[in-house]
Order: sequence, then C-alpha cells, then structure tokens
Amino acid sequence: MQKRNPQYDILFEPVQIGPKTAKNRFYQVPHCNGMGHRFPRAMAEMRGVKAEGGWAVVCTEECSIHPSSDLSPATLMRIWDDSDLPVHELMIDKIHAHDALAGIQLVHNGFEVANYVSRQRTLGPSNIPTEAFHHVQARAMDKGDIRDCRQWHVDAAKRARRVGYDIVYAYAAHGTMTLPFQFLQKRYNQRSDEYGGSLENRVRFIREILEDIKDAVGGDCAVAFRFAVDELLGKAGLEVAEAEDIVGLLADLPDLWDVNVSDWKNDSLPSRFGGEGAQEEYINFVKKITEKPVVGVGCFTSPDTMVGQIRRGVLDLIGAARPSIADPFLPNKIDQGREDEIRECIGCNMCVSGDYLAYPMRCTQNPTMGEEWRRGWHPDRIEKAGSNDGVLVVGAGPAGLEASLALCKRGYDVILSEGREEYGGRVLLESALGPLGEWRRVSDHRIYMLSQSANAQTYVESRLGADDILSMGCAHVAIATGASWRRDFTGFYHSYPIPVADQSMVISPEEILSGSRPAGKVLIYDNDGYYLASVLAEQLAGEGSEVVLVTPAADIAKWTEFTLEHAHIQVRLRELGVRIVCQQEMIAVESGRVRLGCIYMGTESSIDADAVIPVTARDPDEVLYNALLDREDEWKDAGIKTVTAIGDCHAPATIAIAVHSGHEYARNLDKSAEEASFFRREVGFGGE
Ligand code: ADP
Ligand code: SF4
Repeated sequence: MQKRNPQYDILFEPVQIGPKTAKNRFYQVPHCNGMGHRFPRAMAEMRGVKAEGGWAVVCTEECSIHPSSDLSPATLMRIWDDSDLPVHELMIDKIHAHDALAGIQLVHNGFEVANYVSRQRTLGPSNIPTEAFHHVQARAMDKGDIRDCRQWHVDAAKRARRVGYDIVYAYAAHGTMTLPFQFLQKRYNQRSDEYGGSLENRVRFIREILEDIKDAVGGDCAVAFRFAVDELLGKAGLEVAEAEDIVGLLADLPDLWDVNVSDWKNDSLPSRFGGEGAQEEYINFVKKITEKPVVGVGCFTSPDTMVGQIRRGVLDLIGAARPSIADPFLPNKIDQGREDEIRECIGCNMCVSGDYLAYPMRCTQNPTMGEEWRRGWHPDRIEKAGSNDGVLVVGAGPAGLEASLALCKRGYDVILSEGREEYGGRVLLESALGPLGEWRRVSDHRIYMLSQSANAQTYVESRLGADDILSMGCAHVAIATGASWRRDFTGFYHSYPIPVADQSMVISPEEILSGSRPAGKVLIYDNDGYYLASVLAEQLAGEGSEVVLVTPAADIAKWTEFTLEHAHIQVRLRELGVRIVCQQEMIAVESGRVRLGCIYMGTESSIDADAVIPVTARDPDEVLYNALLDREDEWKDAGIKTVTAIGDCHAPATIAIAVHSGHEYARNLDKSAEEASFFRREVGFGGE
C-alpha cells in the first residue's frame, strides 16, 4: 500500500469536540438523502459506508423532533418517540463499527412544514404563511408553545443520547428551514415580546434551546450548533455583521460551530455558480470569535485546499456533504496516498433532487450511492469477474467509461473504443462550455483510473462498425454510443415534429457544443426543462449574441428547481440580457422568424430570429446496436456471446443514469437474469 503524503498529516490529527474526540478532521455534515425513515436500511448502510471510508464524524440528515414538524412527503429522519429509535440504532451501530462519531441534527421546521401526515397546526414565530407550495398558515407561538418546543428538544436530545449518539445538534440555518432561524430573521419575527425585536431577544429562543440541550446531555454528548452566517440577501436578510454579534453572544455555548451560508442553494452552490471554498469569505470570522472548533463546507475535494483551510485558521474540521456522497472513501484515499483516485464531486446537485422528490438519492459521480444495501454495491470494492471472457465497450461517454472501469476492477480484459479524438462523450462536449467546466471530472476520473489499469486497452479515433466488431473476437460487446438531440422540435410538451420552412435556420445543440456559432439573433427553444437550454443561452449571450429563450413551460429550466440551480439561472440570464418567453409553444419555423402560440389560448405571435436551437428530446444512437442484432446468426462464429446497449444508447437520460447503467452492466456481467435484476426492498421497517 502507498504511504500518505506527510503534507496531509495535519488532516489526520484528532480534534476534541466537547466530551468526544474526532479521530481526524474529516466531518460528514448533516445532509438529506431521500431515504430517511422510509428507506432506513439503505440510509444506515450508506452512512456506515462513509464511516468505513474514513470520515471521523458521520451525521444524520435533519431529524424532526416532534409531529408538529412533519416534513412529509419528504422522507427525512424522525425522533418523535421511542418507536423511531430502532432506525437510529441501526445507523449508529454501522457508524461506530468503524470508530467514527455519530451526530444527529435535531430540527423543528416551524412554518416550513404543512404537517400533512400528523395534521397538527403549523407553528411559527408569527402569524405568517408557509411557502406557497403548501398553502398553510402558521400560528404565532405563544409562551406555552415555546415552553413545549423547548421540552421537545430536551426529550429528543435525551433519546439521542440514550440510543448512542455522540454529537447532538441545535440547528438554525438554511433559509426558512428551521424554527430557531425563523426567530432570528427580522422579516419573519414580528413579535413584540421578549422573543422579538432586538437581536438579544431574537437570539433568546436559540440560546434557550442550546442551554436546554447542554443541560440535558452535555456531559455525555457534544453539542453542536449549525448556523448560517449570511443569507446573501443584503439588508433584507441576516448579514455577516449581525451574525458576528450572534456568534459573539453564543460564542462558547456550543461545543462545535457548524457554519455555512443560507439558503440551501447558496450552501450547496452548484459548480456552475461557484467553486471549491466559495463560503470562506463569509464564514472565516467565526474562528476569530469562538474558542470552540469550527466546521464548514465548500465542496472540498482537494487535500491541498483542505490543508490550506486548517493552516490559515478558517476551519478546524473539513465539512463535506457532496464530496462524501461522490466519494465516501475520500479520507481513506488521502490517508493511503491515493488522492489521485478521488472521485471528485462535480457540483451538479443531482443528489439534491432525491430530497425534493422523496426518492433515495443518486449521484452522477458515484453509481453505488443509494445502492449499498439495496444491491450490495460497495463504492470501493467489487466482486471478481465471473469468467475469463474479454469485453469490448464501444463509445467512451459516461456509460462506456464507467462500464470499462468497473469491468477492469472486476478483472475482465476490456477494450474501449471511442470514435472521437477524445474520450468523454457528452461530458466532453458539455463541459467545454464555461458554465459546466467542472463536469469534466466525470470523464477525467475514469480516464485516469483506466490509464492505471493493466487490463484496459483504450483507443480514440476508433469508430467501429458491425464488421469490425464481428472480427474482434470479444465475448461480450457493450454498445455505449449515446444519443443525439432531435432537430424536429419533438420534446416533452409537444411530442410531434413542427413544420420548418427553412432548415438552414435550425442548429442542433451538438453543433453549438462542437463549436459552431450562429450569426445574428438566436432563439433557443427549451422543450426539455433541465439545464442545457439555459447553459447554451448563457454561453451565447456571454459571447455577445442576442438570445431569446422560449419555453412552453411556466418557467425555463423548471427541473433545475430540484438541483438548486433554478434561481441562480434566472439571475444570470437576466444579467446577460437574455429575453425569456414562457408558456409559448412553437408552431412553425419560417424564414427569418418563428411562429409561437399561447399554450392556453392558442393566440399566435411571432419572434424574428436568424437561427433556432431546439433543446427538446434525444434519439438513441442505436444504428450500430441494431446492425449487430440483425446479424445475430453470425455471433457464434465471431465468438460473441452477448451484445448489450447501455447508457443513452439504451434510453437517453441524465449523466447520472448513464453512469449507473454502465456500472450496472459491469456488475451484472456473467450473472443470471434473476441475480442481475435483484434488489432488496424495505418491507416492514420504514413507515410513517
Ligand atoms: P452515454 O451518456 O450513454 O455515455 P455519450 O453520448 O456521452 O453516451 O457517449 C457516446 C460516445 O460514443 C461518444 O463519445 C461517441 O463519439 C461514441 N461513439 C458513437 N458511435 C461510436 C462507434 N461506432 N464507435 C466508437 N465510438 C462511438
Ligand atoms: Fe456531487 Fe453531483 Fe454527486 Fe451531488 S450528484 S455529490 S453534486 S457529483
């Protein structure tokens, strides 16, 4: 085994947190995962794998303390009464088995929740509505409610201690997500009693909760405080100047400060809008005020950056949510001198969608995320090959690269053949645009790992046809030839082509991604709803083109609400002067103009344009796959046993799904259909 680089020794120093000791500085901060109480075995295994990967502290997601903070339909953790404890026990045992500390983030969500299952009244500092999404109004908490809520925190903390947690959190961060933060926020706290008005009054509730938790469990458990130091709303929200006073008022009350910026879209900043360490300028004051250790996040994937954070006195512990999802073994890899093997998070926030849509989260970079228990997939280990057969993988996009890498790890001899001059497929093209630069890590990681593998032969500029494949003698052939954007405007909203009088006006996204630039005014038609239309608009407008972005949806890039990109996209496109036209469907492309119709009334209008880019649906590039299927009677003589379409060639989807598809193919090679389709279900444990 390689040795650790001594420069990184500092990352492996222990840190005292109240009565507990973290064995190193790697700290998995609380993060949602879409599993929680409904998929508890999957959640527990996922956390356990992180502890195994070297994280000294592994925390839960937010964990509701009482039915009046019922986050349903989201699937987070609960500690309402003892009947919730077996789920916690399961997780804590897996964390402790690897000598890591288990932390629990207690939460009361105040007016953020509608209490759909519990049907209790929503509580808040004042009589104000919840998010529009819920259409519920909170009732202003009276003194009795405040007393009760303090007691719920105490009860939950005691339960947490009893079940074995090492660190218990109080939580006031992430925009409107937590009741204590709602009390701090002037715009939500309209009280005139001792809990409203002055800063000391608005801090009172959180101070009481911190003191209560400390009194209840302080001798046995460390008490952490997760706090947002800036809402990035200017004077409308909490700013660093006020946060400095708050940290001053509470300085040494908690055993640990876990600090970030608010709200979640700024905390888990998509890489398109900021890079590693983006929070430093906001949080770096905290360590100057408190004597207690400080943890913070910043999509840290580089050990050099982490060392810098410690040496410059910004942080004591390197916090991570997304980097620990993309690579649960990040600490161990640094410890073992394998830092080149770190699978770096790309900041796409596909993982976040699991929380919003209440499904077990998936990760673009880590196909085993969420599959640790369900399918027994481990992020750092894979079972040995089932035969000595050779495998040919055609196409080196995310699916082909991941399949090749996982097959090599299993011990198969792999030939990877790519038609283009470079590996990477769609990731190569999309990351060439400025906004998605970090996404190149999907291919960079896999290309590097394959370069280190003795059983991989990789070729670029090697476009294969059916004749080539039939002459190569590989037992298994995976076709990962991807998909192409349609040019006929068929997409989600209207699933049929539209008339185009002048085809020369239509430019496909691939042409733009490959470097073509239209002259004059460009109309981009977003009938896809995810990121690409907005990325093309951003790129072209940034280069000086006049851009109109048209969509039949109520909003552009609608799905990016689930990846925390949506609000950032709106701001950036407006800053760049992109004209946004919503709820209009394309009727026809005519020479020099596009005819549109209102999706409700059909009322027609038109926009002059010199070029039109349809970002609509994609067609699988399955010509090669079908050609091989047509010649199945020749396979035996050619030594071919199986031909399988994977990734976008099988069904066009997200990069995360393509990576998963490649991984699944590799895991399942030489298994029976029954073994391959097996996954465990959470019957009889989760529930409301
Ligand atoms: P996925 O997301 O499924 O991995 P991509 O579209 O990203 O798919 O990648 C597909 C890759 O396959 C592209 O890089 C493309 O150049 C390559 N490719 C397509 N056809 C062939 C072929 N016949 N031979 C070799 N490579 C091919
Ligand atoms: Fe990072 Fe994307 Fe994975 Fe989330 S889904 S951990 S943002 S690579």
